[in-house]
Amino acid sequence: MKLLLATRSTHKAAEVVRIFETAPGGGPRVVTLEDESVPWSAVEESLEPFETFEENAASKARYFAGLTGLPTVADDSGLEVMALDGRPGVRTRRFAPLERYPGLERDDANNSHLLECLRGVAPAGRGARYVCVACYVDPRTEDTVHFRGEAPGRIVVRPRGRGGFGYDPLFLDVDTNRTYAQLTSDEKHERSHRGQAFRELAAHLRS
Ligand code: IMP
Repeated sequence: MKLLLATRSTHKAAEVVRIFETAPGGGPRVVTLEDESVPWSAVEESLEPFETFEENAASKARYFAGLTGLPTVADDSGLEVMALDGRPGVRTRRFAPLERYPGLERDDANNSHLLECLRGVAPAGRGARYVCVACYVDPRTEDTVHFRGEAPGRIVVRPRGRGGFGYDPLFLDVDTNRTYAQLTSDEKHERSHRGQAFRELAAHLRS
């Protein structure tokens, strides 16, 4: 079976490929939007207007399944910070107002903004979780199935490590006392929100 991985994020795509490779019992054969020559369209910018990860993931998966006719999975993911009442949540990708961080790339601006929002908050109050919802759509039946992974952690006061992507240098895995950017990729996937969600999807597709 050929499964379309509907993301424009090369980081997410590489993670999912590796999670499937190492999943107990194996994962499906994945093709990307680039492999299928799906051209980028401005419509993609408006596919995630909803207030839940589930709705946003389903919206992306349905759109690309409709375009290609392939069984498709899309991931909507983000960070929920307890001291910020669960923000940025579904707005994680566009958290920082870029005009406040001139010259910074999107990920650096987001990380700077998160540190600024938590300035003065003690370690015990910096609890957070990563959430990933993988939505699988079978275009023949239009059935959608969701798989949710959640990983607990804490936001550190300054970035640590060079691995991973996005918020990983700020997201501490409390068990190992290392940020996700300090873990190897396989260590990250063992405990991450994305690892949990996509291993469940792999098990579902095998069953
Ligand atoms: P999405 O494309 O709406 O799912 O955006 C996800 C946002 O959450 C982006 O800002 C990502 O950088 C961030 N994010 C999701 N998963 C991870 C992760 O595993 N590590 C770091 N940042 C992540």
